[in-house]
Amino acid sequence: MKKVRLSSHLRLLFMGAVVLPAALLAFLAIRAINREEAFIERQYSQTFSAELVHAVGLLTDELDRMREELERTVPPSAANDPAASFKLWKQGTALVRTPFLLSSQFKILWPKVSSSASADELAFINGNREFVTNRAGIPVYSNIAVVYREEIAGLAQVPAGAQVETESKPAEVPAQSAQTQSQVALSPVVMAEKKSEDKASGALPSGYPEKQARQEKGKALAAPRPQQAETDSLKTQKALKDFEENESIQQQVYQQARDRGQQPTLRNVMPSAEEARPNKAEPPESIFISEPKKFNQIIAGRESGLIPRFLGETLNLFFWKKDSGGRILGCVIDDAVLRARLIGRLPAALSASRVLAVLDEAGRPLVTPPEAAPRDWRRPFVAREVSELLPRWEVAAYLTDPNLIRSRANQTAGLLWALVLAFLLSILAGGTLVLRTLRSEMEMARKKTTFVTNVSHELKTPLTSIRMFAEMLKEGRQPDPRRQEQYLDLMVSETDRLTRLINNVLDFSRLERGQKQYTPKLLELNRLAQDLVQSQRLRLEHNGFRVELRAASQPVFIRADEEAVKQAALNLMSNAEKYSEARREVEVEIAVLGGQALLRVKDRGVGISPAQAKKLFQEFYRADESLTSRTKGTGLGLSIARRLARDQGGDITYAPREGGGSVFEIRLPGSEPS
Ligand code: ADP
Repeated sequence: MKKVRLSSHLRLLFMGAVVLPAALLAFLAIRAINREEAFIERQYSQTFSAELVHAVGLLTDELDRMREELERTVPPSAANDPAASFKLWKQGTALVRTPFLLSSQFKILWPKVSSSASADELAFINGNREFVTNRAGIPVYSNIAVVYREEIAGLAQVPAGAQVETESKPAEVPAQSAQTQSQVALSPVVMAEKKSEDKASGALPSGYPEKQARQEKGKALAAPRPQQAETDSLKTQKALKDFEENESIQQQVYQQARDRGQQPTLRNVMPSAEEARPNKAEPPESIFISEPKKFNQIIAGRESGLIPRFLGETLNLFFWKKDSGGRILGCVIDDAVLRARLIGRLPAALSASRVLAVLDEAGRPLVTPPEAAPRDWRRPFVAREVSELLPRWEVAAYLTDPNLIRSRANQTAGLLWALVLAFLLSILAGGTLVLRTLRSEMEMARKKTTFVTNVSHELKTPLTSIRMFAEMLKEGRQPDPRRQEQYLDLMVSETDRLTRLINNVLDFSRLERGQKQYTPKLLELNRLAQDLVQSQRLRLEHNGFRVELRAASQPVFIRADEEAVKQAALNLMSNAEKYSEARREVEVEIAVLGGQALLRVKDRGVGISPAQAKKLFQEFYRADESLTSRTKGTGLGLSIARRLARDQGGDITYAPREGGGSVFEIRLPGSEPS
């Protein structure tokens, strides 16, 4: 049976609607899968960065509080009795380690070099004499984005996608990420100045930049240009954001700083999530640049403040305040207390995926988080500088498991691969199934058409014969009574053929619906075969066939429905007749084998190829399907014969016949006469 070929536009449709979109989808999915690791890394980096921004906010806030505490507790003047005043101050707050008093001419009034001076006091004098007496400057740190605000604004104006957008929406700037907000860190000096104004204007102390915005506002209220302060604050925020988000701006601004001799220091850490930096071997540059300034320059025009100062590699944080007489009171803040208070403000150091640590100026964690794995503290996943008040300090996040991202990416990728494959398979399987169903529907439609044509043709052939013989008899054209008898027999035989054909069609629909009824009874197969051959012999011989019956030597009994067995055998004999050409022989043979009764129909016809033999018994199967095929048929004969035989507990098989032709064999279970 030829397969129904799908029309080319159906194939095109299948390709266009199923295969192509599926392939495209798969391609996109696979590309996405390959980027999974980078995607997860970015996700983690963003999450942890947000945490770090929050942590930095908490730390700067705590620094603020400490400064406020020192301002609150510092004695208004210690000139009369520094020892007693400072003792009281120390009692007032644990932050004070080494208090000092300078005259308005920057002479050290306290501590005094004497035998009663403590080791701390002596160390203060030795370490800071040059600085506090304005003989030597120290580096003063400030945020590069604040210092180069105008330059950044100029660079950011260069039209480039995202920047243009932020440019066009200045109103949204205050609502920017916390990251940018916490980046806003003014120089210690400016901070102090702002704070005092804050107090003067009665503004609430809180985190920057809301605070700063309010401060600027407060300042602006008294100032002649109310808009100016606010725009300044927005400009600063915008500069910080642009600087942080745009690498090319960073490079250019760092270059400008270097050109002006403000060498940016390198950070203590090399965050692995930022490895896209041009120079991977070196740590990134700090956002805090320094400029040497003397003490009097730092405090000029200000009332109080904090000053970070490196003594060797150790960072000291100074607090200072002017009294009414222009003297300067201050202290070195107790490092242990400072650290304890800062660390106390931070959220839990350890979570399932990351370890959070604050690293000091030497790159060591303030507190070693309680986790087993030893790690290289200088290589966090992401890190953020804390403040210009704590230069070189970082808050850093480390992955608890260095392979976390890879294993998560692998996991997700595995899952996605499985999903993509499953989807692809189901699309292809579904598509193929639809095509197959379509094809079998088309095939069925075609078979039905062929079937109708074939049935009409099969009906026509015996009808034509019957009519011909009937007319001959009616017109009396055959006077020979023997011949007349023969004609009548032929007419009966042709009628049998017609009946068989109609029975086949009816049986087919009955068998299909499972409505075929059988009446099994004891039959003798030799006899049955004899009757059959008898009924067909005349017609076969008339058509030039040699008909032979080889009965078994003994009676062969079966229990079966007589009509069913006859119909099956007649179908085989009819085929032997139809598919014979030059050698016209039909042989019916009865035998017994292993308790089974056999009825064989042999011919010397066209035979059947092994490929065709496999499909012989399928419904509607015809070796030559063309409507113009010489031998007409419905393709139902063999399938019905087999169904009938099987319903009797037997079967039908085919075998090629030696010397050419076919052998069909009906096997039925043998039975004993009761
Ligand atoms: P049909 O109505 O076409 O004869 P059948 O189911 O009886 O339907 O037979 C199916 C096909 O098997 C036939 O079309 C024919 O190609 C092949 N066939 C059946 N019997 C024979 C035979 N004796 N010799 C050769 N081919 C046969």
